[in-house]
Amino acid sequence: MNSIVCPKCGKFIESLMGSLCKDCYIQKYDLAHLPHVIEVDICSKCGAMFDRGQWNDRKDIEEIIMEKIEKHLLIHDEAKNIEIEYDILKLSTNKYNVKVKLDATILGENLKQTIMTEVRVSFRSCDVCSRISGGYYEGIIQLRATNRLPTRKEKERSLSVTSEVLGAQYNKGDRFSFITDVQELKAGLDIYIGSSKAGRNVCKSIEEDLGGHFLESPSLYGQKDGKELYRITFSMRLPEFKAGDIVHVNDKLVLIRSVGKTVNVLDLSTGTRISLKLKELDNANLVGDINNSKSTVLVAKEDDMIMVLDPFNYRTITMKKPLHLEVDSGKEIDVIKFEDELFVLP
Ligand SMILES: [Zn+2]
Ligand SMILES: [Zn+2]
Repeated sequence: MNSIVCPKCGKFIESLMGSLCKDCYIQKYDLAHLPHVIEVDICSKCGAMFDRGQWNDRKDIEEIIMEKIEKHLLIHDEAKNIEIEYDILKLSTNKYNVKVKLDATILGENLKQTIMTEVRVSFRSCDVCSRISGGYYEGIIQLRATNRLPTRKEKERSLSVTSEVLGAQYNKGDRFSFITDVQELKAGLDIYIGSSKAGRNVCKSIEEDLGGHFLESPSLYGQKDGKELYRITFSMRLPEFKAGDIVHVNDKLVLIRSVGKTVNVLDLSTGTRISLKLKELDNANLVGDINNSKSTVLVAKEDDMIMVLDPFNYRTITMKKPLHLEVDSGKEIDVIKFEDELFVLP
C-alpha cells in the first residue's frame, strides 16, 4: 500500500528518495553541473597546458578542452552508465563554445541533459619554452674524436641520436629534454641540452652507435631555493678509427666495417670477418681508408689462387684468393699496398 506522501507534489508513494518522490528528486537535483566559463592556460609556442600548478604535455586543443571540462564537471552521485558527448565550436582563437551532452541513469531512470559552457584560452609561454628562448641548459655534450676530427657523418649521426634520445625522454615525462643550441666547431660539436640526465643517455647511445667513451664533469653555476645547481659537461670522445679505415692490428691488415661497443673488421688477406674489442684498437696503426685504394685488373682466378696486376710496378703477382673477392678474371678490382704486399679490397 502506498502510504507515504511526497512533500513536494503530494503524490502517494512506497518510499522516499532523499525526502522526495523519485520524479521530484530527479527534478530537484540536476544530472550534472558545469561552470558557465572555464579558463585554460596554453603555451603559445608548444601547446602545453597549465593545470594544477604545473605545465603538462602538449596536446590537441580539443583534447585539452574535453580534459578541462571533465575536471569541472560535477555529476550526480547516483548517476550510472554515464555517456558524455562534446560539441566544440570555435568562436575565435581563444574562445570556444562547448555543448556537453550527458546521458545517464539515476535510480533506474534514464536522464539526458545538455549543458553549454564557454572555454576561454589564455596564451602564455610555458616553463620549457621560456627556458629555451632564454638559452637555458643543464648539460653540454662536447663531441670530439681521438687524434682526428669527427667526420660529417659522425656529426650528423650524433645529432640524430641526440634528437632520438631526447625525444624518447621527453615522451617519458622529462619536459626539459630539449636541445637549446648546437655549435659546430672545427674540433667537433657542442650540443647544449636542457636536462643533464638526458645528456648521459645521449652519450651512452652515441657510444653504442659510434664507439668511444665519455667523461662527466659537473660545475656549480648557481643556487635555487637553497639547492646548488650544477651543469654537466660530457666530453664524448669518438674512437681514433672509424668504419672504412684500413688499419694494421695484431699483425693483420683489416678493413673496419663498423665501430661500436665491438669493432667488426674484415681481414684483408683471408677475407674472414672478425670482431674485436674497441680496446684492441689501442695498438692499431692507420694505413689508409677505402678511398686510398688503387684500381687494377684481376688477371686470373683459379681455385683458391688469383693473379693480380700490381698497379705500382706493373708486375703480375700470384696470391691466395681472399673470401671477399667475388669478381671474375679480366675485371677491375681495388687494391691497397702495405709493406710491399698487395691486398684486395671488397
Ligand atoms: Zn513528488
Ligand atoms: Zn611551451
